Amino acid sequence: MSSAEELLRSRGLRVTRPRLAVLDVLAAGGHLEVEEITRQVRERLDSVSTQAVYDVLGALSRAGLSRRIEPAGSPARYEARVGDNHHHVVCRGCGMIADVDCAVGEAPCLEPHSAHGFEIDEAEVTFWGLCPSCQARRTADE
Ligand SMILES: [Zn+2]
Ligand SMILES: [Zn+2]
Ligand SMILES: [Zn+2]
Repeated sequence: MSSAEELLRSRGLRVTRPRLAVLDVLAAGGHLEVEEITRQVRERLDSVSTQAVYDVLGALSRAGLSRRIEPAGSPARYEARVGDNHHHVVCRGCGMIADVDCAVGEAPCLEPHSAHGFEIDEAEVTFWGLCPSCQARRTADE
């Protein structure tokens, strides 16, 4: 049994070929759009609908096997790095996304002055800026 199969079983999920294929695509790393995940899944399986990929991603996210992020102005992206409360830095120029380790390492990483009675379990932190190649392009344009 592969580790992906064990992962699915450990979360009480049925092992299916689309689920294994999506886990395999996400395992390569990065923050992928559904379109890109679907393209790569189709290289592994003969036919799979975009809706089927959405369904798989929903099940994996609910089971804590993938994480969905949606920076402002960008379509939702999925990644396999879960459970470590890391954050993201997004380039305003090209949209590139990179992981930023949490300074605290546990959720929530910020203590709000007033939580209005909410029990907080997550602080979503997104850093925005220009990536190195966009900085280089900006300097070249000047
Ligand atoms: Zn950039
Ligand atoms: Zn990430
Ligand atoms: Zn943090």
